Amino acid sequence: MINQLNPSQKEAAIYLDGPCLVLAGAGSGKTRVITQKIAYLINQCGYEARSIVALTFTNKAAKEMVERVSQIVDKRLSKGLTVCTFHALGVRFLRQEAKHLGLKEHFSILDATDAGQIIQEMVGTTDKIRIRIIQQQISLWKNNLLEPDDIQPATPDEKEAQRIYRNYEATLKAYQSVDFDDLIRLPVLLMRHNEEVCDRWQKRIKYLLVDEYQDTNICQYEWVKLLTAWHRRFTAVGDDDQAIYAWRGATIENLAKLTQDYTDLKIIKLEQNYRSVDTVLNAANQVIANNPNLFKKTLWSTLGKGEPIQVISMENEEAEAETVGMRISAAHFNKKAQWKDFAVLYRGNHQARIIEKAFRQLRIPYTISGGQSFFDKAEIRDILAYLRLIANNQDDPAFIRAVTTPKRGVGQTTLQHLGEFAVSKQCALFEAIFHENVDTVIQERQLKPLRLFADFIQDIQKRAHQAVEIQNPTVLLDELMTYIRYEDFLYEHHDDRSAQNRWQNVLDLNEWLKRKAEEDDMRLIDLVQHIALITMLERNEQEQEQDAVTLSTLHASKGLEFPYVHMVGVEEGLLPHMGKEDEYGDPNKDNEELYIQRIQEERRLMYVGITRAQYELTLTWCKKRKRNREELNREPSRFIAEMGLEDKQQRLSDPFKGMSAKERLAQLKQMIQKP
Ligand code: ATP
Ligand code: MG
Repeated sequence: MINQLNPSQKEAAIYLDGPCLVLAGAGSGKTRVITQKIAYLINQCGYEARSIVALTFTNKAAKEMVERVSQIVDKRLSKGLTVCTFHALGVRFLRQEAKHLGLKEHFSILDATDAGQIIQEMVGTTDKIRIRIIQQQISLWKNNLLEPDDIQPATPDEKEAQRIYRNYEATLKAYQSVDFDDLIRLPVLLMRHNEEVCDRWQKRIKYLLVDEYQDTNICQYEWVKLLTAWHRRFTAVGDDDQAIYAWRGATIENLAKLTQDYTDLKIIKLEQNYRSVDTVLNAANQVIANNPNLFKKTLWSTLGKGEPIQVISMENEEAEAETVGMRISAAHFNKKAQWKDFAVLYRGNHQARIIEKAFRQLRIPYTISGGQSFFDKAEIRDILAYLRLIANNQDDPAFIRAVTTPKRGVGQTTLQHLGEFAVSKQCALFEAIFHENVDTVIQERQLKPLRLFADFIQDIQKRAHQAVEIQNPTVLLDELMTYIRYEDFLYEHHDDRSAQNRWQNVLDLNEWLKRKAEEDDMRLIDLVQHIALITMLERNEQEQEQDAVTLSTLHASKGLEFPYVHMVGVEEGLLPHMGKEDEYGDPNKDNEELYIQRIQEERRLMYVGITRAQYELTLTWCKKRKRNREELNREPSRFIAEMGLEDKQQRLSDPFKGMSAKERLAQLKQMIQKP
């Protein structure tokens, strides 16, 4: 099995004498080293699967890794192996150690939207940008392991953010909730302060592996360090050229820091690429040569020269979406390729909508990855609010959403009184309903619907904790749906079509939950936290494997590979991305250093995109693009020039230019018939 590796990969896979870092370019088999090493540890070295932990950044990557491992390790032997995201391990850790942190086992996990709402209430503004800035600041502090007291605010804005940080923490505590950053930060804090916990975890994990190491932030770095401090057995793999999460606090310096923290660190470099043809690799090499990096690496492969990269200029984004769709359609038939061999990559989520529209018209099956689609939908959030409340009565935001959606005769004034009463008694809203003196502030008539609601939740809650054999989660879910009469609610508030769509989404969620419960033998109570995690980076896990084109942000495409890749919107302003305010000109003149860093990060993102392609890569850009109601003139991205695609033959203009929809379809038919 180890024979499926080249000598350097093999060296990395069997090295067990101490910490090991594999530093190598895209497609050089870093992830393969991790999966093979897991197999080696189990099959050859007698490690128990449950003592091995492999960490990745996305659920999708984790899933893929589990699949790869299952192909090379006997199912019986791999039982108990942990392959998951940092955040998922965080949940597991916190669940187990909750009592040491004053949390109950079934605490709530708030996503960015929930957290934003809490902050919004504290700041008392609806200014979305301001809220986001504060939220990002708090997140950055958390990821840098800074507590409110550690911060020395330099500006009035920072001072304000510090104040909010403090209140925000108190509020989370009151709601028995944690946010995403806490999932890693709290384990670090606890391990630092609690020797017994620290010791237990250090001994439990006998080997740790980390993929995409370049994207760890300080907090994650610290956690890895703590977890491995005792036996010092871990392997990290990464590529400094693919670091694309600086904006979330990840720091490439972590790679350099490793060499200082572990003087015996074994560093292994890989050069050969097994993914892409020469044209793709040359383009990638040329673009990234414009960035400084830790060590110079030039990717090469033996897969052949490949087709030239095509750069197509389009009139506008509609033509772009349609042309990409048509080209994929034509290639699908001509090359007899499967739909899932194609990917369309873009810089921002907002670009997906227009491509989706074109694909629907052309009847091209697709899945969206990295979008905020499913779990951000109002109807899904409504249902999840119920589940969250069932798991955790202290989750006040979930309580308010659930008790008012659908309306069940609980008015705003009643809620306000209940809120004031809960504050005075220092309890959660849900608990306040059962407080003996609550009738001093709320009349019996108003209390009745509240009590009915609370009784129902408590009943479900009790049963949600029972073992699956005794209480099937499917039955509970059905009961919940019947009780809240959500379908009626949708039809009362939306036109028929929209209501139908929304109800279908709820049914999909329901189906997915049931499937998950069955597959992994989860109780309802376990499912709730599982869902919260999925909302983290990419939210398409509810979709099953299917033959469909992948639409993905560049960020979410990390680690994946596709035979045919289209990158759209490769134009100045979009890739490299510039914020609203700096679209024309450069407001960062004053801060050139920052500007350069940002362009470098965008360049790494471009590099990630290019290196996803195995055989063919097409780049498109639009001469005009709509922004709000304006139509802006655009220029091709500087990265296109950097790729050295000066050869005229490689530059095409929109092949469907000036054609009507009918003519375009006719053209497509021709393309399909005549390759
Ligand atoms: P990225 O930086 O994009 O995450 P990576 O370094 O993790 O890439 P892998 O995904 O592990 O690279 O490997 C890229 C492709 O090359 C995969 O399809 C993998 O199966 C294949 N591959 C890796 N090593 C070998 C090898 N020694 N022999 C044959 N194929 C290999
Ligand atoms: Mg990889």
